[in-house]
Amino acid sequence: MTFTDTHTHSDFSRDSITTVAQSVRAAISSRLTGISFTDHLDIGVPQGSVGDYFEIGDQQAAIQECVLKYGTCLGIYAGVEVGLQKHCLNEIQKIISAHRFDIVIGSIHWVNHLDPYCGEYYVNKSIKEAYREYMEFYIDCIGNYNDFDVLGHYDYISRYSPYKEKTLLYRDFKDHFDTFFKIAIEKGKALELNTRSFLPRNGQPPPQFDPDVFKRYRELGGEMVTLGSNAHDTQRLGDNFELFAAKLKKCGLRYLTHFKERKPVLTPNEL
Ligand SMILES: [Zn+2]
Ligand SMILES: [Zn+2]
Repeated sequence: MTFTDTHTHSDFSRDSITTVAQSVRAAISSRLTGISFTDHLDIGVPQGSVGDYFEIGDQQAAIQECVLKYGTCLGIYAGVEVGLQKHCLNEIQKIISAHRFDIVIGSIHWVNHLDPYCGEYYVNKSIKEAYREYMEFYIDCIGNYNDFDVLGHYDYISRYSPYKEKTLLYRDFKDHFDTFFKIAIEKGKALELNTRSFLPRNGQPPPQFDPDVFKRYRELGGEMVTLGSNAHDTQRLGDNFELFAAKLKKCGLRYLTHFKERKPVLTPNEL
């Protein structure tokens, strides 16, 4: 079984010091057949917070250099992970449409001007309220924005939330998930399984994989799932892909998807 890691960060992201070439070489030795560089683009963040912006031309030049050197060994794809926010969708659109990418991941890193990574977001909110606000914000963004290919880490909030039972479960937000999936399927967007979501954090047990999420996506006609490690270094490239590909297979997902020139490429999920 071969894999493309569709979500990785290089030193064009503020929180990584790994170069594109280092990641490409590590990807070749870990026997990935493809790697997408999806560095952070977060604009419109509140005053006093640090956004994320990289020189897209420089990142693409570094990628192109690797394509020339290593392109016969694996697929190397230029991408971006854009933080979607309702108030700046037009500005995001302008940046995305001005460049040629292989893959654009649309993620939520801010919800109504607060980052669920930080405790402030959860103040005076029950888990239901905190997660509902996040889901509604995500639905609003993808309903009003088209220029992306993949729904990045749909479960972002569950990584950082302070609650004991933190998994974002299908059964708790059936209507929200259904709306979310219907928009994605209708618009031809892929759903990402981000394996970083299942890592323990600060000594706390991690969120769990919820098969009902992916079963329901499939049931509604969803076919395209990408696997992303969200690696910020060479250690986690392709992390746990075999394990999660097998879980996806059990949910009825027959393919794994990656993107080239903004078009989905479906490979049979052989696990
Ligand atoms: Zn992200
Ligand atoms: Zn990321």
